[in-house]
Amino acid sequence: MAKKRGSKQLILEYFLGNLGKVLISRDIQKASGGAVEWARRVRELRNEDGYQILSHKDRADLKPNQYLLETIDRVPAFAREISTETRAWVLERNGYTCQMCGAAAGDPDPLGGNRTVRLTMGHIIDKSKGGDDTPQNLRAVCTNCNQGLQNTALPKPVRIHLLSQIRRATIPDQIATLEWLLKKFGLETTEMLPKK
Ligand SMILES: [Zn+2]
Repeated sequence: MAKKRGSKQLILEYFLGNLGKVLISRDIQKASGGAVEWARRVRELRNEDGYQILSHKDRADLKPNQYLLETIDRVPAFAREISTETRAWVLERNGYTCQMCGAAAGDPDPLGGNRTVRLTMGHIIDKSKGGDDTPQNLRAVCTNCNQGLQNTALPKPVRIHLLSQIRRATIPDQIATLEWLLKKFGLETTEMLPKK
């Protein structure tokens, strides 16, 4: 037991000493004192201690052997309840968009009526299959998808199709798309956009 705690602490110190730097598996293992189960310790730091250690599952620009800790801020990792902070963090990460059908919070409900789309927390790996309530296993899902009300096994749009749809959209819709993307990525344009 004492040995396990030791390697986890060593890994944590290595991440904290290299905030914002991409670290690779081999070096993490070395920093852990050569622990065979270093990857399990990294998972514990994420899922049990709430350190926001990112991997290729979180960020497309990371390779499978790369890990990154950017902040000492810890996500509250309550096992049972999804905290407000965790919800907010997941919603922001997912751009306030249903990760199954793509509807955004506040969009008109595609099933009709006067309702708007509401987002809730969905589990990537279902709890019945051992998934937990950690931020890494949560995603924004609209209430329709969460209740299985729509055919939600939609594949991600293929880029060439997506771009062709945007190219033939109206200018106001293209501008709306641009504005949404800029907002999503925290950017602003100083260019004058045509009036909608
Ligand atoms: Zn949805």
